[in-house]
Amino acid sequence: MNAHATTQRRPYRGRIAPSPTGHLHLGHARTFWTAQQRARERGGVLILRNEDIDRARCKPEFARGMTEDLKWFGFEWQEGPDVGGPHAPYNQSERQRLYQDALEQLKSGGFVYPCTCSRKDIQSAASAPQGADDELIYPGTCRVSSQSTLTHQPSTKAGWRFRVRDGEPIEFTDGALGPQRFVAGKDFGDFVLWRNDDAPAYQLAAVVDDAAMGITEVVRGADLLASTARQLLLYRALGFEPPAFFHCPLMTDANGVRLAKRNDALSLRRLRAGGESPKAIRERWGGALQRGLPD
Ligand code: GLU
Repeated sequence: MNAHATTQRRPYRGRIAPSPTGHLHLGHARTFWTAQQRARERGGVLILRNEDIDRARCKPEFARGMTEDLKWFGFEWQEGPDVGGPHAPYNQSERQRLYQDALEQLKSGGFVYPCTCSRKDIQSAASAPQGADDELIYPGTCRVSSQSTLTHQPSTKAGWRFRVRDGEPIEFTDGALGPQRFVAGKDFGDFVLWRNDDAPAYQLAAVVDDAAMGITEVVRGADLLASTARQLLLYRALGFEPPAFFHCPLMTDANGVRLAKRNDALSLRRLRAGGESPKAIRERWGGALQRGLPD
């Protein structure tokens, strides 16, 4: 599949979509600032979406902290669900119905199959190599033939997986990183759309929301490049027009280690408490920020 975004003529609509699993760090701020700049330069709209579907890992205090930190840093978003005040974000936890409908559509199209494998089952399968983003390639234990019309959930606890076409190349041109190519079945395997704890998975929720919110360009971290390839398959299966993509290089600390939420040292809260000013931080980023490049 060769995905060419044809969305450039639509008014620009961008989004920032953090998950409240910890406090935001400088890397988030830099990627989100690029998203905000791109929306502003194009006279577009920026949306804040709180990706809080993982009930075990997401915490309301992180969601509150996220909005506070974003405002402190100078982010402004223009649209929300019109409940909870003008600055309230869209919450994925309140949009389950949309994801459920999309899953039903994929079931009727024969794009998905129920899967009872646990993470442990997959780890212990000898034939589960790692894909492009270090995710294990699903060994196909629950895969059924494409002729199967199985659309019901089996009695055991099951999730739903999207069946990829092994060997299919997925190509797209990234706005920051240029031409990209992934091969289904090699860089990633059949991926989870609905988890066995009855929650939508990131890939499904992100695509359904980006389409429902009319997003014309997705700006996010380069760790999600292989997810973009998966998501392009979902856009096709659901009959949605894909947006353009712009993946920002990830920020590393002084030791070259990628910033993570579990390491609080460069969290926006800490920097704020230490008297840092957002303006000074942005000035340090300088022109690199404009180009979506690392310092
Ligand atoms: N919620 C995802 C994250 O925090 C980002 C999703 C996206 O931008 O598509 O990593």
